[in-house]
Amino acid sequence: MNKNPRKKKVAKETDPKVLFRRSKAWSNFRLKLRKKQKYDYVTGSPLAKNANCHHLCEDPRQYEDISDEERFVMLNSTSHTVIHYLWGDGKRRYNWKERLQKLKELCEMMDAANPELKD
Ligand SMILES: [Zn+2]
Repeated sequence: MNKNPRKKKVAKETDPKVLFRRSKAWSNFRLKLRKKQKYDYVTGSPLAKNANCHHLCEDPRQYEDISDEERFVMLNSTSHTVIHYLWGDGKRRYNWKERLQKLKELCEMMDAANPELKD
């Protein structure tokens, strides 16, 4: 068990997801999506070299199903972290609506605290 809650979880070498992500099929699929979706879905920024191919369906049983490109979105690293922070993952699902609302309130409080800064 991980005793330090701040320590980043490292994927196990035997994790089927890790093994799948090393496959030629995944590598080719990811490359194909990258060419098609040139920009980060959330920010509109150009995709970075290390952009993530995010699964819309988090069911682990469907992790290796790459038959439908519409079920994947290319995201830069921070956007990928944020969506999993909001939504969760294949193991845990969060109340993303509540988290988004709290983030919105926090941004509004920051707008109020920094009236001189504009978009
Ligand atoms: Zn993801």
